[in-house]
Amino acid sequence: MAGSEGLPRAAGAIVVGGGIVGVCTAYELAVAGVRDVVLLEREAGLGLGSTGRCAGGFRHQYSSEVNVRLSLASAPLIRGFTEAHGLPLDVHVDGYLFLCRDEATWAGYQGAAAMQRRLGARVELLDPAACAAFIPGLAVDEVVGATFGPDDGIADPSGLVNGYATIARGAGATIRLGARVTAIRTSGGGGSRVLGVSTAAGDIDAPLVVLAGGVWSRALASPLGVDLAVEPHARQLVQTTDFPGRPERRTLVIDTASMCFFHREGNGVLMGVPPMADAPTFSIMTDGRFVAEELVPAAMRLLPSIEDAGFATTWVGLYEMTPDHHPVIGPIRGLDGLLVATGFSGHGFQHAPITGKLLAEIATTGAARTVDISALRPERFADGEPIVEAFVV
Ligand SMILES: Cc1cc2nc3c(=O)[nH]c(=O)nc-3n(C[C@H](O)[C@H](O)[C@H](O)COP(=O)(O)OP(=O)(O)OC[C@H]3O[C@@H](n4cnc5c(N)ncnc54)[C@H](O)[C@@H]3O)c2cc1C
Repeated sequence: MAGSEGLPRAAGAIVVGGGIVGVCTAYELAVAGVRDVVLLEREAGLGLGSTGRCAGGFRHQYSSEVNVRLSLASAPLIRGFTEAHGLPLDVHVDGYLFLCRDEATWAGYQGAAAMQRRLGARVELLDPAACAAFIPGLAVDEVVGATFGPDDGIADPSGLVNGYATIARGAGATIRLGARVTAIRTSGGGGSRVLGVSTAAGDIDAPLVVLAGGVWSRALASPLGVDLAVEPHARQLVQTTDFPGRPERRTLVIDTASMCFFHREGNGVLMGVPPMADAPTFSIMTDGRFVAEELVPAAMRLLPSIEDAGFATTWVGLYEMTPDHHPVIGPIRGLDGLLVATGFSGHGFQHAPITGKLLAEIATTGAARTVDISALRPERFADGEPIVEAFVV
């Protein structure tokens, strides 16, 4: 892949950011017929932001209709990626299992399951004994009920990013690494039309710029007078070594009381929990106290045999949180030629494939067609119309 030298002076569309959202968008723009699509990524590789640090899960179990609809459209693009494009992708469809420990929570999850089914998602209600049979060793004594999504699963984030980059290039898009965008240029100070971007290697003119810079998008939007309301929140994951009692299935199990989760990964499990102190930060320093005092106890409450697991590795990535835990996707009111897609609040890996397609629909036809995402418009916070998502893992 070429570096930033010799950047083109003009493009049909510029995608800012080479995470999963950016590469999916570059591919979909190119196959939709947009000419000279150029993706600019500041790092030396793709997927080195939140994408490369994520757990790779996809699910249909959400409390908001728009998130379920995004999953119904996006998950098949992940599950069917190899068949559609002939490229390898490690995918396991062993489901997501949400464990409820009190009647009020259980009632909420049953209500959400009814909504998910009405929209076409498959979801099952399980009693504690069925959960224990599913994942031997699971602590189910305090569980009142659980929901299980058989079409949910996990996929390799690096494989999907690089797969989409391959098919994007095949469709005619150009991907440039080491290319930091320093500004989005508009007509006049705070003018009404996008002209292109500025980089350290010069300006590139384009009638369309897609801002897919993850948690760093806000900094590029704010000089335009646009507040994307996305805040970075650190999430630390731990990968264990093999241990007696390690589950065979790769089902992603979530304790809805703590939102602690684990799934089988390699010979051990990958696990995480939202920290109790959750202030916005761009720091990705790991925290041994958090692991010892919060993560491991929460995980052992789910699967007590984790006590016997060794510590293989740990890392921190950034969730791109919005006030209502839904992404901001679409055009910016009063600024022609700019589309944004960020703020996925921990769900961007799974919703990126359909997001790329929806952005291409907006770019080529003026509106998103496959899924109605009008509720996700960036101005909804300023308009006082946020939407609620309660199942943020
Ligand atoms: C620990 C963890 C676990 C997660 N688990 C899941 C999960 O199981 N399922 C799920 O769906 N999601 C999960 N997520 C969320 C998911 O990782 C994100 O929603 C998703 O990766 C966002 O993709 P993105 O392309 O928008 O952002 P990123 O992957 O962050 O990509 C943005 C890119 O833009 C580049 N960039 C920024 N500014 C500039 C600039 N000025 N010029 C050029 N390039 C720039 C960055 O370098 C970066 O590569 C998880 C996240 C974390 C941190």
